[in-house]
Amino acid sequence: MSGTSISKQPVKDEYYCQQDICPICESHTVLIDVVDFNKSCIETSGVFLPICGKPIYYTQCQACGFTFAPEMCKWTEKEFSEQVYNEEYLSVDPDYVVKRPVNSFNLLEKLFPINTHSINHLDYGGGNGYLSKLLREHGWKSKSFDPFLDNKMSIKKLGKFNLITAFEVFEHVPNTDLLLKNLSKLMHLDSVIIFSTLVSDGHIKLNGRLDWWYASPRNGHISLYSKASLTKLASKFELKFGSFNENVHCFVKQVPSWASHLF
Ligand SMILES: [Zn+2]
Repeated sequence: MSGTSISKQPVKDEYYCQQDICPICESHTVLIDVVDFNKSCIETSGVFLPICGKPIYYTQCQACGFTFAPEMCKWTEKEFSEQVYNEEYLSVDPDYVVKRPVNSFNLLEKLFPINTHSINHLDYGGGNGYLSKLLREHGWKSKSFDPFLDNKMSIKKLGKFNLITAFEVFEHVPNTDLLLKNLSKLMHLDSVIIFSTLVSDGHIKLNGRLDWWYASPRNGHISLYSKASLTKLASKFELKFGSFNENVHCFVKQVPSWASHLF
């Protein structure tokens, strides 16, 4: 065999784009699975988009459990606009326009039944602004800001808010540190952030297929959090993390009197 070249071992990055370091805790990550880009959340309703043949790899931090799609996390806003948040987006997220804002409104009215006129509220990632509109109609002081739609606006010009909500935002974010940096700029020392994202605890396993419905690239779900990863992310920004359930959570530095009943 001398003189015969042995076929070159494939270089890992020829096949997939893996980021070896967790963006939240900087520990080692491992590749856990690949799914078709067209995997979407409406599969829970029995609707399956045709396979498009574009592989999306997910990788998981071995320390904090944060799971993410490294290649999509590097996409530009233009790529997200063209491939995820395009004219077909509503077909994979039909609750985006009305149902989700109404559910979020009901949740906030339940959490804060009194004195809402004194809470200065921002809905971060508020899309069409429907949640803020509903809240204003019910006496709240509320503003909506969507970094994707209002990307020309400086975050500093928004001011600071007592309560910041971010419903179904975190899982769409490619840069978790930047998200927290932006949210921190909007906070007073005693502001409260209430956000929703389904935690992955019990849903994503090593040595198993990534068949969790929420891990859907077509919906832009590129960052999937365990409770440990949210705790770590909070601590990096001197915040405390708490959960109301597996979908609704909060970040807080100092609990204000108007929210003390929640803690
Ligand atoms: Zn990590």
